Amino acid sequence: MGWAIALHGGAGDISRSMPEDRRQARVAALRHFLNIGVNGLRTQQHALDVVELVVRELENHPNFNAGRGSVLTTKGTVEMEACIMHGNTKRCGAVSGLTTVVNPISLARLVMEKTPHIYLAFDGAEDFAREQGVETVDSSHFITPNNIERLKQAKEAKRVELDYTHPIPKNGKSENPLADGDSQIGTVGCVAIDNEGNLASATSTGGFVNKMVGRIGDTPIIGAGTYANNLCAVSATGKGEAIMRATVARDVAALMEFKGFSLKEAAAHVVEVSVPRGNVGLVAVSATGEITMPFNTTGMFRACATEDGYSEIGIWNSKEH
Ligand code: ASP
Repeated sequence: MGWAIALHGGAGDISRSMPEDRRQARVAALRHFLNIGVNGLRTQQHALDVVELVVRELENHPNFNAGRGSVLTTKGTVEMEACIMHGNTKRCGAVSGLTTVVNPISLARLVMEKTPHIYLAFDGAEDFAREQGVETVDSSHFITPNNIERLKQAKEAKRVELDYTHPIPKNGKSENPLADGDSQIGTVGCVAIDNEGNLASATSTGGFVNKMVGRIGDTPIIGAGTYANNLCAVSATGKGEAIMRATVARDVAALMEFKGFSLKEAAAHVVEVSVPRGNVGLVAVSATGEITMPFNTTGMFRACATEDGYSEIGIWNSKEH
């Protein structure tokens, strides 16, 4: 067994009528971020460093719903959240309600490493960011024109939504500048096992478009959107409220721990049985280097690779390599 890595860029109702050039751009982006992680693992970096690095890069990309591309609350503000966990020690850190921190995932790691706590939110988390000297910017940096438009559309339709669920018009092109699949990719996550057997998971998000101010989703909740132990590392995406109810990430680990399920069996059970259709996707790796990336939504932006040369990049059910 060697290293293995999997990442996601969100699960949801991703339109199959996405034009070919955009699909290719999505696949190229996933390949790019996968390569960053693969290079880290090949050069013997710790799994925690690798998942943090990959998620940081995804946070810096404006087309993902995390960091720079975070979607907006009902008041037009950003409230970012993230979580990181080391499986072998169960050390973890989480943050919510960030408005100025460029890389929420790195602040989550600092919570894990520099505080006696696991989870900091809102003003306390922002104060901690300043104390630690992490990069912060004016909140307006995160408020992109596309996300202003998304919020406007969500408000018009009175929706609180996943970031890529814009309806595709039935008859031809619409005036909607974000329709026809020209929506961003979603919440981001990465799981990995390194050559030393360290398992790690990291997830970062802006949440839902038009979410209430103060809403916290599954991403930073240990055992819901993010979890790792000595058996596996899991990062989930989809409707946070459904993921929290089903304690998705922890249930995958628990089925392995208490029922002796393989990673694939455990993840398939959670995705197919525990969470209503259309609500969840996850990526996971096990201590034996197994990878799985199931979802019960229309699609999930995802990519994975193992040391023995297996690699997969996909959006819908058919795989592209
Ligand atoms: N799970 C995230 C949330 O509910 C959203 C997503 O995965 O796209 O905040």
